[in-house]
Amino acid sequence: MMAANPPAGSIVNALSIDVEDYFQVSAFATPIARADWDGMPCRVEQNIDCILELLAGRDVRATFFTLGWIAERYPELIRRIADAGHELASHGFAHHRATDQERGEFLADISLAKAVLEDIAGKPVQGYRAPSFSVTHANPWAFNCIAEAGYRYSSSIYPIHHDHYGMPDAPRFAYEATPGLMEVPISTVKGLFANWPAGGGGYFRLLPYSLSRWSIRRINRVDARPALFYFHPWEVDPDQPRVPGTGARTRFRHYVNLHSMLPKLRRLLDDFRWDRVDRVFLSGNA
Ligand SMILES: [Zn+2]
Repeated sequence: MMAANPPAGSIVNALSIDVEDYFQVSAFATPIARADWDGMPCRVEQNIDCILELLAGRDVRATFFTLGWIAERYPELIRRIADAGHELASHGFAHHRATDQERGEFLADISLAKAVLEDIAGKPVQGYRAPSFSVTHANPWAFNCIAEAGYRYSSSIYPIHHDHYGMPDAPRFAYEATPGLMEVPISTVKGLFANWPAGGGGYFRLLPYSLSRWSIRRINRVDARPALFYFHPWEVDPDQPRVPGTGARTRFRHYVNLHSMLPKLRRLLDDFRWDRVDRVFLSGNA
């Protein structure tokens, strides 16, 4: 049964998708080298088309943080995303973590991704999200590079404790990271001793949907702020090829509850109002 429409006056939250294939996630970087990407069976096109259909059915627009590598191989897919009214944003070119790069390499990677995406879509790209939320205290120059490359906002911080990413002491809501550049962190709920993830990732698949709904409602009602949520195309694909040579923890995180993802996303779309990151956070009302 469809949920009742959310009240018209309720806060509009921001929905985002990190456009990468299942073999490009950082946790698989050891078993699958970048040089092997070209030989991998790709699933991203069918998964993005599934997501586009889901969003079109609910008249929702979102922001797609897309790898330049994907855009070069699937230009028609990129145009389908843009033509449907979604915001095209950048996830860098080849999913290098910012923390693994020198300043010059990072600037070149994010500049190339922006140019490739703009060339294909014919529209300016304003947003950037670092792979694996890899803007941390270790690379304070990263925000300057993102601004220098011409982006207007970044969404590269998840203010939580996590073994692969996270900057738990970063602001929980949008802030000016450097002059001319806004950072829009993934949403969290403030707990007694730590922030709890509320904006997607494996937590959304692992934990009951009701907890995610409670968290986003709390951000909207108690903090009186829009939430920012993200997910990946491979998360809606229970039939994706299994990557061999990975540890138990990586396997669990990547494959847990893939079957539940689409039904949970449908509920999430029905329970809240959603729009593109640029429209929610750059319009000056967030
Ligand atoms: Zn990514």
